[in-house]
Amino acid sequence: MKKYVYVFGSGKAEGKAEMKGLLGGKGANLAEMTNIGLPVPAGFTISTEVCTYYYANKKTYPKTLKAEVAKSLKKVEKMMGAELGNVKNPLLLSVRSGARASMPGMMDTILNLGMNDAVAEGLVKKTNNPRFVYDSYRRFVQMYGDVVLGLKPVHKDEIDPFELIIEEKKKSKGVHLDTDLNADDMKELVGLFKTAIKDKTGHDFPQDPMSQLWGAIGAVFGSWNNERAIAYRKMYEIPESWGTAVNIQSMVFGNMGEDSGTGVAFTRDAATGENVFYGEYLMNAQGEDVVAGTRTPLPISELAKANPTIYKQLDVIRKRLEKHYRDMMDIEFTIQQGKLYMLQCRVGKRTAFAAIKIAVDMVNERLISDREALQRIEPDQLNQLLRPVFDLHEKNAAITNGRLLARGLNAGPGAATGRVVFNAPDAEEWKKRGESVILTRIETSPEDIKGMDAAEGILTARGGMTSHAALVARQMGKVCVAGCSALNIDYGTHTMSVNGKVVKEGDWISLDGTTGEVMEGKVATKPSEVLQVLIDKTLDPKDAPIYQEYKKIMTWADKYRRLKVRTNADQPDQSRNAVAFGAEGIGLCRTEHMFFGEGKIGPMREMILADSVEQRKVALAKLLPLQREDFEGIFEAMNGRPVTIRTIDPPLHEFVPHEEPAQRALASQMGISYEKVHQRVASLHEFNPMLGFRGCRLGLIFPEITEMQSRAIFEAAANVQLRGIKVEPEVMIPLVGNVKELAHQEKIVRQVAGEVMKEKGVKLNYLVGTMIEIPRGAITADEVATVAEFFSFGTNDLTQTTLGVSRDDAGRFLIPYVEMEVYEKDPFEVIDRKGVGSLMKMAVEKGRGVRPALKIGICGEHGGDPSSVEFCHMIGLNYVSCSPFRVPIARLAAARAALADKKVVTARTLPSRKKAAKRKKKR
Ligand code: PEP
Ligand code: MG
Repeated sequence: MKKYVYVFGSGKAEGKAEMKGLLGGKGANLAEMTNIGLPVPAGFTISTEVCTYYYANKKTYPKTLKAEVAKSLKKVEKMMGAELGNVKNPLLLSVRSGARASMPGMMDTILNLGMNDAVAEGLVKKTNNPRFVYDSYRRFVQMYGDVVLGLKPVHKDEIDPFELIIEEKKKSKGVHLDTDLNADDMKELVGLFKTAIKDKTGHDFPQDPMSQLWGAIGAVFGSWNNERAIAYRKMYEIPESWGTAVNIQSMVFGNMGEDSGTGVAFTRDAATGENVFYGEYLMNAQGEDVVAGTRTPLPISELAKANPTIYKQLDVIRKRLEKHYRDMMDIEFTIQQGKLYMLQCRVGKRTAFAAIKIAVDMVNERLISDREALQRIEPDQLNQLLRPVFDLHEKNAAITNGRLLARGLNAGPGAATGRVVFNAPDAEEWKKRGESVILTRIETSPEDIKGMDAAEGILTARGGMTSHAALVARQMGKVCVAGCSALNIDYGTHTMSVNGKVVKEGDWISLDGTTGEVMEGKVATKPSEVLQVLIDKTLDPKDAPIYQEYKKIMTWADKYRRLKVRTNADQPDQSRNAVAFGAEGIGLCRTEHMFFGEGKIGPMREMILADSVEQRKVALAKLLPLQREDFEGIFEAMNGRPVTIRTIDPPLHEFVPHEEPAQRALASQMGISYEKVHQRVASLHEFNPMLGFRGCRLGLIFPEITEMQSRAIFEAAANVQLRGIKVEPEVMIPLVGNVKELAHQEKIVRQVAGEVMKEKGVKLNYLVGTMIEIPRGAITADEVATVAEFFSFGTNDLTQTTLGVSRDDAGRFLIPYVEMEVYEKDPFEVIDRKGVGSLMKMAVEKGRGVRPALKIGICGEHGGDPSSVEFCHMIGLNYVSCSPFRVPIARLAAARAALADKKVVTARTLPSRKKAAKRKKKR
C-alpha cells in the first residue's frame, strides 16, 4: 500500500529534511527538528503526492487516505494524551500548507481545529480560563469561515468582514486592543461570526471535528491553486506539478495568558545579515498575530529581559539549528505556560545584502565552503548592491526642512521614491502607465503580491519585521518600511494623514528602507557603496564593509569560473567602469555609436550621401582621425586586454536626417541642393531595414568603409603599442551568413593591417573573426570557421532571425506569449535554449570541428543574464560579454555554472585537431 501520511512526535519522525519533495519544506523540517530532539508538538504530514492526485482526479483523495489519516491521528492522540472532539480532554489541531519551496502566506492555514460549542465548554472546565478558550474558538471560526467557507472581502477597498465585527465590538465597548476584550466578548464574537457566515455564505459552521478536519484539508489543497499562490509560483518559477503537503499538528497555545506567547525569529538579521538573534514575539497571542501584522510585536531582545530562561533555550536552539543546517534559519516558536515549543524552521529569506554577508561570515566561521557561499547567492541579487542609496545631504536637508513624515521599521533596505497608491491593483495599473509608485497599506496581505512587485517601495502602518510585507519585500529586493504606526490610512478617500499632514493618492514620497524613514516629496539618490568605491572612487574600501564582502564573493567567483567575462563598451569611460567591475576585455565595441559623437555625424552623413567612390573617400578621410582617436582611448583604457571591434553594422538610413529642416541644413553644410539630399535619403528607404542593407553587406558594397575602419583600428593599435601599452585588437565582421562574405572582408582587414604595420614599423597581434547572428552563419559554421579566428554570438539578431520575430516590434505579442507560456521567458532576455540554443551548439561543434582552438563568445544582451550565462558555460564558450553593470552578475553566474557542472565541455574535450583536419581535407 502506498504511504501518504508521515507521523512525527515524541523524538521520532517518519520523515527527514531531505524529503522536501514529498513532505514539503515545513513537513520535512518538522520531522528533522523532531529527529534532532527539539521540542516539536506531535503531528503528521499528508504528502504532496496527495495534492497531485487531488488535482488529477477531480479533487478526490486516494482511497486509502481516510484510514491512514485516522490511524495517524490515533498515534498523535496517544502521544499527546488527548483526543480530537473529546469534551473532557480535547486535542486541538493546526492544519497548514507546506510546499517544497517556501511560499510565505500564499496558501491557507487553520488553527484551533477541533473546537465546537461542547469542546469549548469542556475546555473552560479543564483550563479554568474562559478568555483563552473563547479567544481560541473565535479565531478558529474566523479562519475556518474565511478559508473553508469563503467569507472574505469582496472589493479591493473593503476591510476583512471578521475584523469589521471585532472593530465594532471594540468600539461599542470603548476599547482599543483585542486584549481588552473579555471572555464574554469573545464568546459573543463566536456567535456573531457564525451568524455572519450563515447570512453571507449560506453555510453552517460545522460542529463535528472530523468534518472540520476534512474541510480544512480540502481547503489547504485547494489553496495551491488560489490566485496569489499562482502569481507567486509564476514569479519564482515554482512548477505547478509540485503541489503542497498538508501538515496537521497538535496545537500549543501562545494565548493562554501572560506566561504564554508566540514569535518568529531569524538566526541572523535577515535585512543586514548581522550575526545577531533577530526576531519578534508577542505574549498572550497566537502565531498569526505576529506574521499578519495586526499587532506590532516586540523585538526578541526584550524576551531576554522578560523571560531569560526561555530566551536562553531559544538561543541554544538557534545555534544548534545553524550548525545542523549550516544556514540562516527562520523559526516559529510558541511558549505555552512557560514551556517552549518549535513550530517551524526553514532556510530564512534574506536581502541581497544579508545573503552576501551571511555567506561570507559563514565561510569565515567555517560553517560552509566558499563554493557553497557562491551557490547561495543568486547572481541577480548583486543588483541590489549596485542600486542607488539616498544622498545623505539631500536626505538630511529634507528632514531639517520638516519633510520627515514618520519613522517605521527598516524592513527592506534601499532608497525608493514614488507616488502614493493605496491598493495593489492601482499599483499595477499605475506602473503600467509608467509611474513609479509606493504601495501604501495599513497592512499587506498575500493578495497584494502583484502590486508589491509593481511598486518601487512598500509602506505599511502595521506589522513587524517578519510580517508578510517585510518578508515578501525582502525576497523581491524591494524597499520596505513597515509598522509605521503614525500613518492614518483611509482606503475610502485614498488619503493618509500623518502628524497633521495629509498625503493624497498620487503625492510623491520617499522611503529609506535602510533606516525606516518616510519623507514627503522626492529625495535625490546617489550611487551605492560598491559604485562609490569602484567607479566614483569617492569612498575608501576600508570604510566600505559592503564593498569588502562584494570583493570577497567576486574573488571566489573568479576562482571557480571557467568562462571569461568581457563587456560591451564603445567609450573609454564605459570601458574603465567595466574593468573596475572585473571585465577581462571588450567583447563588442559597436563602432557606429562613435559616429554620433562630437564632430563625427557631419562627415558620416557626407560619406553616406556621397555620389561616387571619390567623394566617399574624401568623407572617410575626415572620419579616419576621429575614429582612430576613439580607438586609442579604448585601447589605453583596456590596457592590454583583448578588444573586439565590430565594423559598421546598422543600415545607413539611421545616420541621416529625415525631416525637411534638418535635410536643408545638411544640404547647405555639404554645398549641395536640398532636393539632392532629400532624394538620396529617400533612396535609402528600406521596408525591412533589419534584414536589409546592413552588417557586412555594407562593407562588401562599400569596401572603402571597411578599409577606413581597419586603418583607424590598426593605426590606433600601433600608436598605443608604440607608447608601451599592450594591445590585442580583434576585428569582428557582423551579420555573416556566408563564408565568402567574411573572406571578402578579411582580405581587406589583413591587407590594411599589413600596410599599417609596415608604415609604423611595428608588429601587431590581431585576430579577424565574425559574429554568428543569422541562422545560415550557424548552420555553415564549419565553413565560416575556415576563415574566422573567433566567433561571437550576436544573440539579439540570432534570436530575431531564428524566431522570425522582430526585436523592435515584438512587445505587443511577446509579453502575452510569455504569459501564455508559448515561450517560458522573453527570448530576447533569456536564451531560447531549444531553438536559438541548438543553433549555437551546432555552431560551436561545427566551428571547433575545423578549428579546435576557435575562440567563441557571446555579445548579445543575453551575455549578462544568469540562465543564459549558464547555457554558454554548458556549450563550452570561452567568454560572455555584457554591459558594464552586469559584469559582476555574469562573473557570479559563470562561477555557479562551473560549480553546478562537473563535466565541463571545453575546447579540449571537443573533436581533436587530427579529426578536424581530416574533415577539412574531405571538403
Ligand atoms: C546582436 O545581434 O546580438 C548584437 C550584439 O548586435 P546588435 O545588437 O548590435 O545587432
Ligand atoms: Mg547584431
